[in-house]
Amino acid sequence: MTIAGVAAAGDLSRICPIVSRTQDSSGYGKTHTQVVRVGAVSFGADRPVVIAGPCSVESYAQTLELAEAVKACGGDMLRGGAFKPRTSPHDFQGLGLSGLKILQEVGRETGLPVVTEVMDPRLVKQVGEHADMLQIGSRNMQNYPLLVEVGRFGKPVLLKRGMAASLCEWLGAAEYIAKEGNLQIVLCERGIKAYPSGEYSRFILDLNVIAAVKAETFLPVIVDPSHATGIASMVEPASRAAIESGCHGLLIEIASDRPGAAKPKCDAAQAIRPVILERIVGFLRSRQASEGRKAAYVV
Ligand code: PEP
Ligand code: MN
Repeated sequence: MTIAGVAAAGDLSRICPIVSRTQDSSGYGKTHTQVVRVGAVSFGADRPVVIAGPCSVESYAQTLELAEAVKACGGDMLRGGAFKPRTSPHDFQGLGLSGLKILQEVGRETGLPVVTEVMDPRLVKQVGEHADMLQIGSRNMQNYPLLVEVGRFGKPVLLKRGMAASLCEWLGAAEYIAKEGNLQIVLCERGIKAYPSGEYSRFILDLNVIAAVKAETFLPVIVDPSHATGIASMVEPASRAAIESGCHGLLIEIASDRPGAAKPKCDAAQAIRPVILERIVGFLRSRQASEGRKAAYVV
């Protein structure tokens, strides 16, 4: 069924011939996933990737403490926003350039590749020079000049799903990046606005879309259970479900539980404690090991 004004999955071969499997333009066939490499981290390979860190970079000490926690928990990459898309212009907007510098320095110190959001096409070069991967946030998924710029810049891109975007619109956004010659794209489901979002959780985590994404494109796809739920106690079950759905990794926000640690300036209600992250990574790695054993048995 086609709803007027809404792109249908049947339009994929026309809307996004580069990234869709329908035209098989990249030679990934019907089942293979493209591996996107960020430093030593590989998205789309057998091992799911865990990206974790604060919602926003608030200070050097806070970022270093959380990066060390990510590493100790077995996480693969560090996240942290320097430019924050906030609902109110009166809220904390991020540290900007000084936040980028902190993130880059902490990444180097801990050996974790870093991902951070870029919101402004004019800042792609500046943000890109400080990060290993550029994040396009949900609110900017259809900011086409921004997509073109990150496509031209050429570094790996984490493309979040717009909170009201169809699969076709999401892949259309990926196509804008790919058209500029950059196929280093990782998709990220982060929850959508649908009934009853807002009643007991921030958004609705759409896990159905993971299988659909994998059927329609060879790009890897990860899940952000933090923004999808908005509630810390929901992050662990959502993470487990996401992994079972077949995604290629997770993006999770954490905060310090050290006595005296400041409350995060942004998204405090969804930040989990490092000990919970450790449990999620433990679940993911043991599941991966048993999947590996099953595959070995089948062969
Ligand atoms: C974020 O990851 O910091 C963020 C703002 O997420 P989203 O764009 O999914 O809301
Ligand atoms: Mn956040």
